[in-house]
Amino acid sequence: MKTVHIKAITCPGCAFTYEMAGAATGQKGQPKPGHFGCCMKCGQVLIFTEALSVAIPTTDQLTGLAQRNPFLFDQITAMSAKVKKQNQLEQN
Ligand SMILES: [Zn+2]
Repeated sequence: MKTVHIKAITCPGCAFTYEMAGAATGQKGQPKPGHFGCCMKCGQVLIFTEALSVAIPTTDQLTGLAQRNPFLFDQITAMSAKVKKQNQLEQN
């Protein structure tokens, strides 16, 4: 996964601030509105907004991604599950 320097974003799930983003397959370079991502701290799936901040995607947005790009959807949900599982292990 390549990382790029981005405008600071704050995860709505855990309030962690990022200045780097890892580009998922098919999303090269700077994030654009509508691009999906995953918080590496809490595993929250994120979507870039028009202002290039991040929000929690709606069910419709996630369904749309799964239909348009099932591979990317799988990649992001797998990453989210992995981070969440890791967090659970660390808490126990
Ligand atoms: Zn987070």
